[in-house]
Amino acid sequence: MARQANAKAHRASRSPLVLNVSRLGRRPGSMLSIHETVVSPSRIGVALVAIEAGAPLELDLRMESVSEGVLVTGTVSGPTVGECARCLSPTAGQVEIELTELFAYPDSATDETTESDEIGRVVDETVDLEQPIVDAVGLALPFSPLCGPDCIGLCPDCGIPLATAEPGHHHDKLDPRWAKLAALRDQIGDES
Ligand SMILES: [Zn+2]
Ligand SMILES: [Zn+2]
Repeated sequence: MARQANAKAHRASRSPLVLNVSRLGRRPGSMLSIHETVVSPSRIGVALVAIEAGAPLELDLRMESVSEGVLVTGTVSGPTVGECARCLSPTAGQVEIELTELFAYPDSATDETTESDEIGRVVDETVDLEQPIVDAVGLALPFSPLCGPDCIGLCPDCGIPLATAEPGHHHDKLDPRWAKLAALRDQIGDES
């Protein structure tokens, strides 16, 4: 038991997304505002685009004591880096998500009637925003990010990004059937 409490305290001190709610008390209606920039504790995003670990995460949140627990609402935003799904060049952007997350008090009706993976819990006077943020950012980011809305991608023949190729970049390719005719024509030309 003591070990478990220790592990929780350690986790709380490590992640900047674990917020202490003890100052809120348990009077329904009491409120705390958080305007803070913290360091992202992990890479948050999808395969091709994400907020990098260590990037600044801007928290603009309100914590409110309600009868069942602590309601956290507001926005979280951060810079994203990724790779264009068409031309593979690096992309940079910004993502902002809205949070509305209830964390139930340990002895509330919500605590008794829901699983902790459905609704978060107030644990040792803290709420952990990491999973809700990971979930919301995952939904907000595109699975196929583009460097620009009209990215024309890579040359299908040589693979260079067409945006940086010379104007009208193309490869002269003869259809194999025409190639045979051309050879025949050359042959006839030689004979005549
Ligand atoms: Zn691109
Ligand atoms: Zn090419």
